[in-house]
Amino acid sequence: MLRNTYTKEVSVVRAALGAAAELCRNVQDRVAVTKGDRSPVTVADYGSQALVCRAVREAFPDDPIVAEEDSTLLRMPEQSGLREMLTKHLANVDPDCTLTDAMRWIDYGNAGGFSDRFWTLDPIDGTKGFLRKEHFAVALALIVDGEVAVGGLACPKLDGGTLVAVRGHGAAQGNGSINVSTIDSLSDARFCESMESGHSAHGDAQRVADHLGITTESRRLDSQAKYAVVARGEAEIYMRLPTRKGYVERIWDHAAGSLILSEAGGCVTDCRGRQLDFTCGKGLARNRGIIATNGHLHDQVINALKALEIGQ
Ligand code: AMP
Ligand code: MG
Repeated sequence: MLRNTYTKEVSVVRAALGAAAELCRNVQDRVAVTKGDRSPVTVADYGSQALVCRAVREAFPDDPIVAEEDSTLLRMPEQSGLREMLTKHLANVDPDCTLTDAMRWIDYGNAGGFSDRFWTLDPIDGTKGFLRKEHFAVALALIVDGEVAVGGLACPKLDGGTLVAVRGHGAAQGNGSINVSTIDSLSDARFCESMESGHSAHGDAQRVADHLGITTESRRLDSQAKYAVVARGEAEIYMRLPTRKGYVERIWDHAAGSLILSEAGGCVTDCRGRQLDFTCGKGLARNRGIIATNGHLHDQVINALKALEIGQ
């Protein structure tokens, strides 16, 4: 499994995510700098992006990379502390690496948007979880002709190592394939959602759960580890319900996780049941919210959202 197609891509994904996750784990002093959009970023986001972009560029020089970060903030005069920390952490991986190298690698990730074949990277998905020393993920995916072809997730706070999927060839963690649960009754269903009420409407998710007769409490965790949890059969439903009008989900927050879950036998759509459309650039502009399930319960969740007029 996973070996028939995209063999080189899969080995690059595994190696790059492994190195990036290790760099993240080695960052002990977890302090955030606030970016222009008011979201937090850390030295680990930059270090992870530098390592993954370098690996992808070396292996596939012609492939564009659409990644979350760029070097703008790092280049600001007042961020000398951040620059020093970045060089220190990268020197653990490659003693010859200079700050100029690091900035260049980071900016390999600045492709503008959609093309026939491109990569998308979230160097630390769930930065807020990373700062709390809870769940986060390094998420890398290859998109070919608008469909996710290869996806990889390193989730250092989940046991079992990097998760990888190849379209049509299943999903694996380590050497073993992973599969969604067979639970098809709502009374047994478990759901998960973001920790952050600003990223997913917790109240609306509870209304859906009540409407469906789901009695277990939601499991809240940061990052695409939620897709991994459903893909491994530890929950049946992941709801990501819009908190405000106009928010467009980012492709790097969903490309890898959605392929891993669908290849594990699950189903991923938006709140209206539409397929995720990765052809719109950096955002999922034709979608609203995300519903990811083990497949068996998908239609029931979509119908509940319709009845309750959530995310429509
Ligand atoms: P999570 O860890 O599931 O909360 O997801 C983290 C991601 O949420 C970040 O990578 C952001 O790109 C994304 N995000 C930021 N603001 C919002 C929002 N208003 N709605 C949904 N997602 C958001
Ligand atoms: Mg993210």
